[in-house]
Amino acid sequence: MSSSEFSPNDIKWMAYAIELARKGVYSTPPNPAVGCVILQDNQLIAEGWHQKAGQPHAERLALAQAKEKGVSVEGSTVYVTLEPCSHHGKTPPCADAWWSLRLAVSSLPRKTRTLSSLEMEFFD
Ligand SMILES: [Zn+2]
Repeated sequence: MSSSEFSPNDIKWMAYAIELARKGVYSTPPNPAVGCVILQDNQLIAEGWHQKAGQPHAERLALAQAKEKGVSVEGSTVYVTLEPCSHHGKTPPCADAWWSLRLAVSSLPRKTRTLSSLEMEFFD
């Protein structure tokens, strides 16, 4: 995906996710600071940011918030500032959560991947 494929709306929500990520800049090392927003029909339904190493990642917190509100994330668009992790560390892999929900994932700025490219990576 090239940057020209991002709409002004994509850029707006990714900027917001980056803003969330910045809250964790001093508390997440050695983990990266990550922000995540979930949108349904262009309405923000949940958000999260990684707060501390060893604690839930931004994506997990956003999903938990949606669940807490009783909002379905099926078919949502997710903006995550870093490609969702796919390894088992202190917390379970976030990519599994998206995979099971079949969400679209936009990830900037380090890597830009869609869920389909993640799928290919997992199942190659
Ligand atoms: Zn993760």
